[in-house]
Amino acid sequence: MKLTHLTALELGRAIAQGDVTIPQATQAALEEMAARDERLNSCITILEEQAMERSEALQRGLKPGLSPLYGVPLLLKDNLCTQGVRTTCGSKLLEHYVPPYNATAVDRVEGAGGVCLGKGNLDEFAMGSTTETSHFGPTRNPWEESRVPGGSSGGCAAGVAAGFAWYALGSDTGGSIRQPAGYCGLTGIKPTYGTVSRYGLIAYASSFDQVGPLCRDAADCAAVLDVIQGRDLRDSTTVDGDYGGLLAALTPDIRGLRVGLPVECFGEGLNPQVARRVQEVAGVLESRGAAVTWVTIPELEWGMETYYVLASAEASSNLARYDGVKYGFRAKEYKNLTQMYENTRSQGFGKEAKVRILLGTFVLSAGYYEAYYKKALAVQAQVKEGVKRAFGVCDVLLTPVTPNTAPRLGESLTNPMEMYLSDLYTVPANLAGLPALSMPCGVDGQGLPVGAQLVGPRFGEQVILNAAHAYQQETDHHKRVPRGGRVG
Ligand code: GLN
Repeated sequence: MKLTHLTALELGRAIAQGDVTIPQATQAALEEMAARDERLNSCITILEEQAMERSEALQRGLKPGLSPLYGVPLLLKDNLCTQGVRTTCGSKLLEHYVPPYNATAVDRVEGAGGVCLGKGNLDEFAMGSTTETSHFGPTRNPWEESRVPGGSSGGCAAGVAAGFAWYALGSDTGGSIRQPAGYCGLTGIKPTYGTVSRYGLIAYASSFDQVGPLCRDAADCAAVLDVIQGRDLRDSTTVDGDYGGLLAALTPDIRGLRVGLPVECFGEGLNPQVARRVQEVAGVLESRGAAVTWVTIPELEWGMETYYVLASAEASSNLARYDGVKYGFRAKEYKNLTQMYENTRSQGFGKEAKVRILLGTFVLSAGYYEAYYKKALAVQAQVKEGVKRAFGVCDVLLTPVTPNTAPRLGESLTNPMEMYLSDLYTVPANLAGLPALSMPCGVDGQGLPVGAQLVGPRFGEQVILNAAHAYQQETDHHKRVPRGGRVG
């Protein structure tokens, strides 16, 4: 079997047993990248030399009892700060920004022996669903290059699907891990808000942003979460708690698990092929002893509007720091301070970021705060209540990840509403701070991956990972690889 076909845990085992060396693994991934990344554009920065050096150093330090991910190469979304390595956030504003520190999640994967191969492309400031708003050009989907990989963690998703790395760290504000995982046939998880530190993650909408893994299966997700989660004194929104070991406790035994299908997620606008695939997932879980029922959460229907009001409001405030003074791009020509701000921001931000800043500033402005921002907060509370009610009668919710499979490049730019709608099923988990996982559950008529989402109650990572793991024991959709990609 080709090295780049292994899961992260399989590669970790092969390294620990001495069947593969870390430089060999790194080399294999870099070769895949060299062969195909010019077309896919999954990485903004490739760290070839640095990764080879680190691989050799890690190989020398190999000894029994290390992390199961020791020596396994990965990609980092380019909104995670990396010390000494430029971190662009997909923006012209940060094109030459080199952070003096690592994000906590980066420190943790490196502490576990991770080898970072590159910084994954993303929509500018993680705003978007296709990776087309990146200043560094769009990423293509390795399953079908005329399609988008999803976004905003599209570079990471495309890279892992194409065999350029064994896993990636992305971020999810409204679906940016789960949606690209869905479009690229990967398993990804957005953890419970507060379980993974946001220190060093360039802020989009701070009350929703979470860092999480994009992997090939649920077991890999458990292993990565074990490494990155936990209290961080540098992020006061992280929670103390007993995180235990998700991987150690992973079990395919889901007898008695109560699975709820929210009727609101199977209605109008859903591609019937996607609906069918997701309902088949329910059948598989049932065959393993789960009890599946329909539930109704009418509040979900307001999720998208609420999310876009709140996320834009937070974004407008977070992006105020890019003023040309402290760091990043500064316009060359200006006559006074005000003009310097104006020119820097007009030339530095792309169109989508500007739309969000305008919308966010509007909903926060004195005259409209009550009508929009405050109202959205009230609706968010309702969504949380609705979901909580559902978790009174079920343990996990099963929904599609997106209404459709990956759109063609360019399609969403001409129809932005369609793009926003691709977040319909993913944003409620962010509004309610819940853990949610995306996993492949087959392909559509054109051979494009379809994703199923499992949402759990707060701190219910183990429950959704177990359900996904059980599903992946029974099926092999997660083992399918794109033609011309990992399989060759
Ligand atoms: N597509 C959503 C947005 O543009 C979500 C992005 C994300 O999760 N970072 O806001």
